[in-house]
Amino acid sequence: MKILLIGPQGSGKSTQADLLAKDFNLPKISTGDIFRELSLQKSEQGRKIKEILNSGKLIDDFKTAKIVEQRLNSNDCRKGFILDGYPRNKKQQQIFDPKVDKVFALKISDEEVIKRLLARDREDDSIKAIKKRLSLYNEQTMPLLDYYKNQGILIEIDGMGEVEDIFCRIKDRLQK
Ligand code: AMP
Repeated sequence: MKILLIGPQGSGKSTQADLLAKDFNLPKISTGDIFRELSLQKSEQGRKIKEILNSGKLIDDFKTAKIVEQRLNSNDCRKGFILDGYPRNKKQQQIFDPKVDKVFALKISDEEVIKRLLARDREDDSIKAIKKRLSLYNEQTMPLLDYYKNQGILIEIDGMGEVEDIFCRIKDRLQK
């Protein structure tokens, strides 16, 4: 089972990816987690990644695709994986297509995103970065959703409400 979770920041995609990974005993591969870890390195690369994360922009498509390709080629991903945050746009998908079976898109409003993120108080969550990520999501990730819709593998999930309820919505749709 190869599942992709897509949603704007603050949609809870990472939490849902954790729950799915645990439930199906599959590895969760999160590009956001990978980059946050790399940003802690005391090197020129670490400093650059940190700057990009804090600005709300995306890391280079080729670099990201390479990292994901290597990770998904690991032994632990052979039975499947829960992918969180990749691909983010059509270009990444063209460079390296993870060939997922199902795509869950978590839907929440921009107002709710801003409300949730300002409450979480993370270093990369300045209002400027939040707005930048939202505009990139609308410009780059929404067209990717259309692509998955045309493939017939997109499942849209209402991202409002309690974590457990959202998880039930996802599992319901998986069983159908
Ligand atoms: P996330 O935790 O998925 O919201 O990702 C946090 C940040 O990591 C994003 O704002 C980007 O700067 C970077 N990032 C995560 N996934 C990708 C990706 N697929 N392509 C480029 N940058 C990414």
